Amino acid sequence: MRNLQVNGERLWASLMELAQIGATPKGGVCRLAASDLDGEARRLFIRWCEEAGCSVTVDRIGNIFACRPGRDPNLPPVTTGSHLDTQPTGGKFDGAYGVMAGLEMVRTLNDLGYETEASIEIVAWTNEEGSRFSPAMVGSGVFAGVFDLAEGLARPDNVTGVTLGAELERIGFAGSEPAGGRAVAAYFEAHIEQGPILEGAGKPIGIVTGAQGQRWYEITVTGQEAHAGPTPMRRRRDALVGSARMIDAVNRIGHEHAPNACATVGFVQVSPNSRNTIPGRVFFTVDFRHPYDEVLSAMDRELREACNRTAKAIGLEVDVKEFWYFPPTPFASDLVAAVRDAAAAQGYAHQDIISGAGHDAVYMARVAPSAMVFVPCIGGISHNEIEDAKPEDLTAGCNVLLNALLDTANPIT
Ligand SMILES: [Zn+2]
Repeated sequence: MRNLQVNGERLWASLMELAQIGATPKGGVCRLAASDLDGEARRLFIRWCEEAGCSVTVDRIGNIFACRPGRDPNLPPVTTGSHLDTQPTGGKFDGAYGVMAGLEMVRTLNDLGYETEASIEIVAWTNEEGSRFSPAMVGSGVFAGVFDLAEGLARPDNVTGVTLGAELERIGFAGSEPAGGRAVAAYFEAHIEQGPILEGAGKPIGIVTGAQGQRWYEITVTGQEAHAGPTPMRRRRDALVGSARMIDAVNRIGHEHAPNACATVGFVQVSPNSRNTIPGRVFFTVDFRHPYDEVLSAMDRELREACNRTAKAIGLEVDVKEFWYFPPTPFASDLVAAVRDAAAAQGYAHQDIISGAGHDAVYMARVAPSAMVFVPCIGGISHNEIEDAKPEDLTAGCNVLLNALLDTANPIT
């Protein structure tokens, strides 16, 4: 381990300057994908990269790559980055941190006159948030072949219907480079944790070993509408009572597979939703998450059993439809080890952690060895204007990122 140190004050200053683009009165950032403000942030990032001696290219889905050339142009690049777009009530650090950490790393290597064998690339992925254009992680998804380019460009704005492709064109970021289809030696991403675990443990560094899997369901429960007055209790087929028991079962399944399982019902529609009519139909969603596929499968079985049992007991029909399945993604063990070694060499308290959220690294893991570094955020709060992080933790994460990445870009032989 080389134990190089980045300039934490410069990293913080860049983050604060970037956060002024789309700054909200409550101290957050609103910089939706492919908006004018996103264009402004992208141009600032490119200017900084060019000033740091990088050559910048933009691919057809608008992903920006800033390359610091290595000694051997035949080697595939080692890449790091994240995203510049935010939620409508987003913060200063989600995404921006990973991109600015990449920039700070390059600036540090320049200061030290440090050459690497492989090129180092900083990437800013398009539309990670999926807030204006769903789904999330479209830029990295197209790069990794999860979505077709045409499919990505055709994503409509959730309100106006204008496409991502048209908006990229308008802000000057419909690039000419092919999206994906080229080798990346390794991908590292630094990100705030967006949860409370590291802060609770008092540790500045999370070694992200992978991202949890997800199973999403749409469940429709059908009973019979009837008058709330004349219908005796024993004659009822109340779809809402059945759904309530099923929702309770979802919560119990989550607790039974603690501490790693998450189980959520966040959307319920009751029909006809009238105070004096027994509900005849209920639609609700289920979101299951767990780092291990076999546990997710067990949760799936338990959900179906609970739904069928309840439906039978009350005389209802139930349709459990799996809407989306996202397999657990383990990160590359040698890169995870490089991150862990870098944290240990710097003397930072650290622990392994699983990513609860989706990240560009999760799609990149499909086409390149990938890993992530997490740093704590205050109160575990993210996707919120009050999102905050300590400068010293951000510096720690950037130091770990730099040394882990150098391990890969410039192996000591
Ligand atoms: Zn993010």
